[in-house]
This record gives sequence, structure tokens and C-alpha cells, in this order.
Amino acid sequence: MPTKIKQDAMQTPKEIAIVGDGYSAAVMALHLLRRGISGDSIALIGPRAPGKGNAYTCASTFFRLNVREDLPIIFSEDPLHFARWAQANVDDPESKTDAGYFYRRRDFGNYVVQLLRDTEGAIKVERVLAKVNQLKPENGHWTMALDDGSQLSAKQVIIATGNSPPRWPCAVMTSVQSSTRMIENPWPGDYLDNINQDDHVILLGGGLTALDAINALVGQGHRGMVSVISPRAIFPPVQALWKRLNQPQMPKNLSPRRLVSFMRNYLPKSSADSPEWQSAWEELRPYLNEVWQQFSAQERRSLLKRLGWVWSLYRFRASPQTIAAYEYLRFHNQVQFAVGRAKQITCSESKISVLMSSGAEPVGDRIINCTGVGSDPLSSELIASGLAAPDALLQSIAVDTDFRVMNSEHEPYVNLWMIGPATMGSLGDVVASSAIAKQAEQLADQIAE
Ligand SMILES: Cc1cc2nc3c(=O)[nH]c(=O)nc-3n(C[C@H](O)[C@H](O)[C@H](O)COP(=O)(O)OP(=O)(O)OC[C@H]3O[C@@H](n4cnc5c(N)ncnc54)[C@H](O)[C@@H]3O)c2cc1C
Repeated sequence: MPTKIKQDAMQTPKEIAIVGDGYSAAVMALHLLRRGISGDSIALIGPRAPGKGNAYTCASTFFRLNVREDLPIIFSEDPLHFARWAQANVDDPESKTDAGYFYRRRDFGNYVVQLLRDTEGAIKVERVLAKVNQLKPENGHWTMALDDGSQLSAKQVIIATGNSPPRWPCAVMTSVQSSTRMIENPWPGDYLDNINQDDHVILLGGGLTALDAINALVGQGHRGMVSVISPRAIFPPVQALWKRLNQPQMPKNLSPRRLVSFMRNYLPKSSADSPEWQSAWEELRPYLNEVWQQFSAQERRSLLKRLGWVWSLYRFRASPQTIAAYEYLRFHNQVQFAVGRAKQITCSESKISVLMSSGAEPVGDRIINCTGVGSDPLSSELIASGLAAPDALLQSIAVDTDFRVMNSEHEPYVNLWMIGPATMGSLGDVVASSAIAKQAEQLADQIAE
């Protein structure tokens, strides 16, 4: 792909600009190309080579996909494309488990990069190595201010800025300039080399990022203690070998309360790590987005407030390798939960301490921020400048069911879209790679028409 750093704003606007360089941007470009849209009418704007983004740019070989090999589906007509590619191209004997193959995230990233590279016309897609700071409508097209000081215009823009890296969720007091003791963004995994085997490691947050850290620490022979600070002393369950066997008959006109009670009744009494329970859960999932979209903004917020943690816990289950690492630490009494929320982190030359709302103050050698997604500056800017409406959760931009960004009057733009995990507040369960690829397929169909 040709790389271009600057474009004169006076030049003819590009036909389509995709803002972002992660998985969403790559699958978007790929599906546009597959529908015959010429590569030279597309610009991909982002600081890195497209395809891996925050999720799959992993230094660590211990960071694994949390889904088995038949679930990252990029082509709806060929759901096993990745499974076949991995069989042929990945040397990873440890990927095999009783619940399927769970490959390394970085191998999946390589797959996406290769897919895009091999798509006909991709060579002509213009790559702009910059971040978009600002987006403004101008004479029927969009002008983008880039962080290298240049500008670029496009007739149609697709925002695919994804998961912003985590930020510390509480105050940080430090007497040192910068410290390898404090890892604010652990997603790339490059912090692991700095951890000594006997360090006491504090994990702030108890989700999949914390489990990634645990898997990597065990993999590199960690001997020290691991403390997990989390509001609940529980990790997501292990993925089982589930199968969708039945189709639930979803009642009409569900309220959030009736939805919860319907789901409760539908799920079997067996434990959440059993194949039966997970099969039932996965049978419900395809129907939930439609139900979510029928709820008012207020109903969505209250549902998420009451049940968001249950949803995250069971929706994001973990790879068997990762849970095995956690069980290993438990068996060796090397892991403990500190239940509650962090109020303040203090970092000195030699120690980290975390003041919790309960008054407890765990102390360790390193702290890793596993608290999840930060906020996206471009979306915030669009909302603050009055160009876009916030979504129901007040976390991102609102989009309609055709992925069109809503203006501040809640009317959709005809030439500005957004896909990816940040559309969750509007559209529901759209964080996983297969859900995003489906969005890209649907939007490419619309644009190609
Ligand atoms: C750590 C992690 C692990 C995950 N693991 C899995 C998994 O195992 N299985 C699964 O199905 N899903 C997983 N996910 C879910 C994930 O949401 C999707 O799979 C997918 O990777 C999201 O891709 P994205 O391109 O939308 O976002 P990102 O990966 O966040 O990429 C967005 C990119 O856009 C760039 N960008 C941001 N702002 C701008 C701007 N203003 N201008 C230009 N570029 C910009 C960023 O630099 C970034 O590289 C994971 C997510 C994370 C964060």
C-alpha cells in the first residue's frame, strides 16, 4: 500500500476515508475492496500498519484469543476461514484444548494483516500515517485535521477508532518521573520483561486483561505474589465446548426486568463453566442486540448499571490456558483478591501502594492497570463540538442501525459512519471480532450500493 503523509486540503477529496488502523479499519477496507470499490478511492488513516490495533499488537506470546478457532468470522460465507488459515500457518501446539483451539492474539493479528494485504486492490489503498484530531463538515464533505499538522478531505468517512487504551481510574501520586513499576496500558504486553520473578504484582481490575497478565506471569515462571484489586473476587469463567442447539422464543415487548427474568428462566441451573449453561447463553446472545436497541436510553443505562458486571463476566469468558494459569497460582497460594475499588495509587522509588475505598492499602512492587477501555478523544471532540450526539451510555457517539453517526439533533449524517466496539451503547453486543466484521460487511454493502 502506498504511504502518504500529507495531502493538500485543496486537492480533490478522497472518496472514502477510514479513520483507525486496527482490526475494524482493516476489515472495513477489506470488505469495501471485495465489493469492487477501487483501492485508490480509499484512505486508511492511523499511526500504524492496519490490522492489529490495540487488541492484536501483542509482544507477548501468552496473550491468547478468548474464543475458539471457529468464532473469529471475517467472511460470513466462509466461517472457518481463520480456522483453516491457523491450521496451515500457525505453529502453536499449546493452542489445542478440550474446548477447541485458542490461538495467540498476535497470530490472529498477522492473519488480519495478511488478509488485507492479499485482497485485490489493497495495494492501491492510501495509507496516511497520522491520527485524526478533528473532523468538520465542509461543502458536503469532511475535512480532517491530522496530528502532523496537515489536513485531508473525504466525501465519506468511517470512524473505526476502537478501544482507547486504559487510563488510571484513580489519582496517582508519584515521586519518580516515570517508572516501570506502573503499567498504565498493558495491552501490548511489553511490560512483562521488566517484571522480576519474585516481584509482588498488583493487578488493578479482574477481567480478561488481568487474566492475560496472570497467564504471562505463570508462563515466565513467576514466583512472587499476585494481588487482584477488584469489586468482586471472581474472574470470568473458562470457555467450554458450547454449541447453539436451540432457538429461544424471545417474548415481544420486553422491558429490562422481563428480559432479565426471561434469561434467568432460559439458563439451566448448571454452573456457568458447563457446556450446557454456555450453550444456552450463546443461544440467547444473537437476539439481545435487537432487544437492546428497542430499549430507551434510560432503560439501557439502568440495565447496564444493574447487570453490566454480570454481562461482562459471562460474555467475556476466558481461554482454558489462561484459567489453567490462574488455577496454578491458586494452587501455589500465589494469588489473592483485595475486594473493593482503588482510590489512590502511590509510587515511590521502591514500592507501590494502593489506597482502597475500604481503607485497606495493599503494597507491591509493580501495578498493572487492567481496568479496561479509556475514552476516545476523537469521539469526545465530535460530541463537545456539537457535531455528534452522545450514545445512550454517554460513552461514545450515537449511531443508527445503519451505523450512521447521529448529529446533535439525533438525525443521521448521510456520509459519516462508525463501526466497532464503540457502537455498543447504540447497537449492543458488538465488541467481538466476528460482530465487527459483520458490521463491516453490512456497511460495505450499503456503500457499494
Ligand atoms: C486487549 C484486547 C483483547 C481483545 N481480545 C479479543 C479476543 O480475543 N477475541 C475477540 O473477538 N475480541 C477481542 N477483543 C475485542 C476487540 O474489540 C475487537 O476484536 C477488535 O480488535 C476491535 O478493533 P478496533 O480496530 O475497533 O479497535 P482497536 O484495536 O482499539 O484499534 C483502533 C485503532 O485506531 C487507532 N486510532 C485511534 N484513534 C485514532 C484517530 N483519531 N485517528 C487515527 N487512528 C486512530 C488506534 O491507534 C488503534 O490502533 C479484544 C480487545 C482488546 C482491547
